[in-house]
Amino acid sequence: MAIQRHKGLADDVYEAIFNKLISLEITPGARITVDGLVRELEVSHTPIREALGRLEGEGLVVKTHLFGYSAAPQITRRRFDELYELRLLLEPDGARRAARQTSKKQLTKLKDAAGRMSKLGSSRERQGYSGFARLDADFHDQIMEIAGNELIRDTLAHLHTHFHIFRLMYHARVTEEALSEHKELLTALSAGREAEAERAMRRHIERSRERLLVAFE
Ligand SMILES: [Zn+2]
Repeated sequence: MAIQRHKGLADDVYEAIFNKLISLEITPGARITVDGLVRELEVSHTPIREALGRLEGEGLVVKTHLFGYSAAPQITRRRFDELYELRLLLEPDGARRAARQTSKKQLTKLKDAAGRMSKLGSSRERQGYSGFARLDADFHDQIMEIAGNELIRDTLAHLHTHFHIFRLMYHARVTEEALSEHKELLTALSAGREAEAERAMRRHIERSRERLLVAFE
């Protein structure tokens, strides 16, 4: 797929490689050559190197001395368990705090993200899957932003949890079920019901864990 040249070229190149990584078109651990991407995307080396550097910062690409770039390996079962344990400690509490103080503007933004996710969730395309992963990451980040503890928000953001868990497998169930769980969460946040928001977030994370756990079987 060739990329058209215009102002947002660097972003488009980044997005194209990101899609390949999340949708497993580039499999975990696979070698990535700059020349291969130059040919495939029909762009110069510069935006490719720039994109790979950015993806390296997000933990999706690994650069090894003399070997070059490769897709990051799949997270281990242990890392998976640790990520979910951490999320369960921080996010339900964050949702409870957010329910106390979500403004109308913030709620509109959250609903907008959820709406865009439901459009992507029904698409059967792999591009939709990586778009869903990014929107889900944004959705959860927005809630932590409303909750108000910057350190907790940064800690979760720097782990890039959503990118790693969506890369475990490519399956429509992952997106479809999450949509109704997000809806429950939004209902609790709009009504300002703290305990309900906390419960909805806990349920969402526990179910997400169950959906993806099969990737290790
Ligand atoms: Zn979610």
